Amino acid sequence: MSDCLFCKIVAGEIPAKVVKRTEEAVAFRDIEPRAPTHVLVVPTRHVPAVRDAQGPDGERTLGHLLAFAAELATELGLDAGGYRLVTNTGKDAGQSVDHLHFHLLGGRRMTWPPG
Ligand code: 5GP
Ligand code: ZN
Repeated sequence: MSDCLFCKIVAGEIPAKVVKRTEEAVAFRDIEPRAPTHVLVVPTRHVPAVRDAQGPDGERTLGHLLAFAAELATELGLDAGGYRLVTNTGKDAGQSVDHLHFHLLGGRRMTWPPG
């Protein structure tokens, strides 16, 4: 999508600290980190939010993103301490970029429930 921030990061049109990439997913450091490790995991194709990832293509994308994020967490050394993997969907959750993304957060003790 031409005016989507994360599509532009995926395309390399806007710089980001990319830490992992496949044909279907890209992970890059959040610009405003909320934990010592804060990486965003996004599909390379434009999907607005998790509620839009339905049907066979959606299942494939979600499956790949989760497996990709888990592999990345291992590579970043987060398995021992643990980590949080979350996605905000829509206004009540505070989604601010309308391109599906999972936040991979780690390196500190998290609180629950989220605010
Ligand atoms: P949301 O609020 O939609 O769940 O998460 C969007 C995330 O994108 C936020 O954590 C925000 O800090 C991050 N973000 C917004 N703009 C940029 C940017 O230009 N580059 C990077 N790397 N992250 C961004
Ligand atoms: Zn997009």
